[in-house]
Amino acid sequence: MVKLNSNLESLSENYLFVEVARRKQEYAKKNPFAKIISMGIGDVTLPLSKVVVDEMKRAAETLSFKATFKGYPPYEGYEFLREAISEKYKSLGVKIGTGEIYVSDGSKSDASNILDIFNRHSEVLIIDPVYPVYRDSSIINGNKVRYLRATEENNFLPMPYEGLLGDLIYLCSPNNPTGAVYSKEQLKKWVDFANQNRRIIIFDAAYEAFIEDKNLPHSIYEIEGAKSCAMEVCSFSKSAGFTGVRCAYTVIPKELEVNGHSVGKAWLRRQSVKFNGVSYVTQKAACASLTSEGKKGVLECISYYKTNARILSEAIGKLGLWHIGGENSPYIWFKCPKGMTSWEMFDFLLREANIVCTPGSGFGESGEGFIRLSSFAAHEEALYAAQRLKELKI
Ligand code: PLP
Repeated sequence: MVKLNSNLESLSENYLFVEVARRKQEYAKKNPFAKIISMGIGDVTLPLSKVVVDEMKRAAETLSFKATFKGYPPYEGYEFLREAISEKYKSLGVKIGTGEIYVSDGSKSDASNILDIFNRHSEVLIIDPVYPVYRDSSIINGNKVRYLRATEENNFLPMPYEGLLGDLIYLCSPNNPTGAVYSKEQLKKWVDFANQNRRIIIFDAAYEAFIEDKNLPHSIYEIEGAKSCAMEVCSFSKSAGFTGVRCAYTVIPKELEVNGHSVGKAWLRRQSVKFNGVSYVTQKAACASLTSEGKKGVLECISYYKTNARILSEAIGKLGLWHIGGENSPYIWFKCPKGMTSWEMFDFLLREANIVCTPGSGFGESGEGFIRLSSFAAHEEALYAAQRLKELKI
């Protein structure tokens, strides 16, 4: 008899963004003249840069000739893109060979699919509040999930301690949803903990392009010892605006082994069974975003969003609310006033300022009482939202 994977029943209802949309719609219906602005979205809004689009056109043209047509791409990605990614690591002072880079269609899929190569009895450690993909993928796979609480007291950057359980450790820095960023010293403690206790870190660097503080690490491999305990997922989504184009990569160093078996080899085996690569046009476009012209385009977009983040952070600061993020991250995470719950604050902001935010409780228990604001909006909207925030009576 056919049965569904019963682990799916253990997933909590995916109601966060559905409920946000429902409340927004209901308010708009009752207040048809209200100018509602959305500061909740996690998707980019600026268009692709010209350098990227020109390269896409050129690559598409290549495919129209018999002599240069290309079929299935290599499972691990074209050498030209892996070389460009390797160069990017070099600029961080990190040596990552092309054979340690695996190109994919997204860091969401990689962060989730990577669980396929580990035993189902491996326990997964997740920092709460969390990008829900780590938690839900672990639940679907049947892995036991353990939580480490991120709180105001630890600045939403919890640290490992003796006796902390969890074989696979998801770390995300800059963090979604909190915008908190681990320092090199803090990451070193995680790396030492993982090496000493034979754990594996899955480091999500999807927002690394937002880091401007020279002392903060863009990659876990900037930390000594990381190659023997960590893999890293990264993406072109938030740097080059590829959320709709789809291109990302995972780094698995040669040194990373489990019981003498290469983790990289296991991943490539998994990919070769379940994945047929990323299109030539997309990989060429991703490569263009890593050229010097391409990097200029990336920087322009990032600084646009970060100006928004600064505007919003300043407004939250003026309200006297505790907050983090917004400096090396597109997200601002702030504490609701007067003991309000996340949803109470959501309703309050919608009603009093016509701003749509994301309730922190939607990212896990420790997010209760907090709000995430996103800077992926137009300047005018950010300015408008900031003005309304400053005028709030709380
Ligand atoms: N990792 C984090 C922390 C994210 O917030 C997101 C998307 O919002 C992703 C990964 C997904 O990125 P991609 O578009 O590469 O799948």
